[in-house]
Amino acid sequence: MTQYRRIAFIGAGNMTRAIISGMVSSGYPADKIYASNPSQGKLDDLAADFGININNHNHAVTQAAEVIVLSVKPQLMEKVCTDLAQLDLSQKLVITIAAGIEAHRYQDYFGQPIKLVRSMPNTPAQLGLALTGLYSAQQLNDEDTGYCNELMSAIGKITWVEQEQGLNHVIACAGSSVAYFFLFADAMQQSAAKMGCDPEQARSMIQQAMLGAAQMLSHNSDLSAEQLRLNVTSKGGTTHAAIERFQQGELETLVDQAMQDCVARAEEMA
Ligand code: NAD
Repeated sequence: MTQYRRIAFIGAGNMTRAIISGMVSSGYPADKIYASNPSQGKLDDLAADFGININNHNHAVTQAAEVIVLSVKPQLMEKVCTDLAQLDLSQKLVITIAAGIEAHRYQDYFGQPIKLVRSMPNTPAQLGLALTGLYSAQQLNDEDTGYCNELMSAIGKITWVEQEQGLNHVIACAGSSVAYFFLFADAMQQSAAKMGCDPEQARSMIQQAMLGAAQMLSHNSDLSAEQLRLNVTSKGGTTHAAIERFQQGELETLVDQAMQDCVARAEEMA
């Protein structure tokens, strides 16, 4: 990273750990990182593993930092923000990673103008393979934009969306979609087990096939997913037999409906 600002994480759970781990591995100085949490255990673990500053009080870490990352569960966000609203936040960059709370609601919680970025990471952040969507309701300067880019790049890839609604598309394509792939893998494993395949062997084969397919998509970006599929589908062959069954069952329609349901739910929750 080129900018090492003092940064405070409010909430020291799974996502905070994933981001801090990525930051420290990419050279962010631990003495510029702060985290607060009501219970001590997770803070002690973070301090032991990464050497960061810890405190039980959200105010203390917020006052110490230039960048605040709101990393508590969405249902606690209003309480946490209205409490932080007692502080002067006018010079701070606030990044929230909570799902489903629109930018205008933070302005209401804080009751003062704040520079806010909404970000939407996904669970592969734990492995440095996140896809994080980013949105800012107001024009950010180049330094703040660059800072957000570098921060979230510590856990994987990033993409900015121009409209807040675009974050719901990030949820459907990258957040919730991780679970769709697990569902598919699970269904394949169950089928393989029914055919008499050793469960561990099936799991290992399926996970390697998914990894390989993802790598092929990423390495052959000039080829569409459809083309890559056609390349492994000889007419009358084994893949063709399986694909025909998916198409008879209208898999594409089902996927389309599931994606739309996902976005509709995100809109309801906002
Ligand atoms: P988590 O439950 O692991 O962590 C939340 C932490 O907040 C807990 O350690 C909890 O003790 C702490 N906390 C509770 N009350 C607090 C308070 N008043 N002040 C400070 N800390 C408090 O949750 P997580 O999975 O890390 O998720 C954090 C946020 O990230 C959520 O808003 C979630 O929507 C968002 N998010 C998570 C994922 C994911 O994959 N886990 C993906 C995208 C977005």
